[in-house]
Amino acid sequence: MQVKLKVELQELCRIISVVGAIGGCIFLERDVSIEELIKFFVSFAQKNSCGKCVPCRVGTKWMEVLLERYLKGELSAEEKKLLKILAEDIGASSRCDLGKVAGKIVNYALEYGLIEEK
Ligand code: SF4
Repeated sequence: MQVKLKVELQELCRIISVVGAIGGCIFLERDVSIEELIKFFVSFAQKNSCGKCVPCRVGTKWMEVLLERYLKGELSAEEKKLLKILAEDIGASSRCDLGKVAGKIVNYALEYGLIEEK
């Protein structure tokens, strides 16, 4: 249990530093979960997208929808693959860090099991 908590705090710090790197600063309650933080950031990226590139403008909206359903345990196996591919593509092909980071955070969270289906 202590090891898992340590990993989560390290990941939390990494994500907070990434959010800080794109020009924002957030303050969190002590009990904010990693799922809530990731959902917050994807939503933040979607709302603040300037719309110049499709991966961020459209991709983050779909990623937000799929992520929400993933966390509720509503995705089929095919949709889970789609979420992972979408996150990888958004992270790789967005024009600036807002979109890139949104994709990378979700991809990283899925790859390392930081978020789980309910
Ligand atoms: S990734 Fe950057 S350039 Fe592309 S839509 Fe988002 S904010 Fe605009």
